[in-house]
Amino acid sequence: MKMRVGTGYDVHRLAENRKLILGGVDIPHEKGLLGHSDADVLTHAIMDALLGAAGLGDIGQHFPDTNPAYKDISSLCMLREVRKILEKESWGIENIDATIIAQAPRLSPYRDAMAQNIAKTLGIEVVNIKATTEEGLGFTGTEQGIAAQAVVLLFRFCHFGQSRSFCQPTRAQGESNENL
Ligand SMILES: [Zn+2]
Repeated sequence: MKMRVGTGYDVHRLAENRKLILGGVDIPHEKGLLGHSDADVLTHAIMDALLGAAGLGDIGQHFPDTNPAYKDISSLCMLREVRKILEKESWGIENIDATIIAQAPRLSPYRDAMAQNIAKTLGIEVVNIKATTEEGLGFTGTEQGIAAQAVVLLFRFCHFGQSRSFCQPTRAQGESNENL
């Protein structure tokens, strides 16, 4: 079995008159994150980690912010696209561990809902979401922005034949949740 690790990091600026969407959850707050899509910094960090582990570049290459199709789009829709890209390459996801770095609001009440959204969209079980502050320091501490980082582990089963090797898809194709 082949395994690959990947990391992702993302930052978005906090601004007035924007929704705060983290892991697909609409979190009540006086400011939201600024971006071309819904600016879901957590989902973006996870997407970058997944693409990075698979050696498939980054989110900017697959979803350029110059493309009007991604304007205000739910980042969970883009995550679903990343899932398809990984499935095409026969990669399964072993686990995801992510951290949101935000001074405010308090995120612990939303952690489970965020993890569930990510897990459902990817068709996996192990998604761990953590939240921390930077004790008032730096751009997250002064509430200028929110950062997120993620680590993922991918796996792929390989079978070696006489003259060639091939890899089998590790998950049933076609599972998806269209309600997200
Ligand atoms: Zn982003």
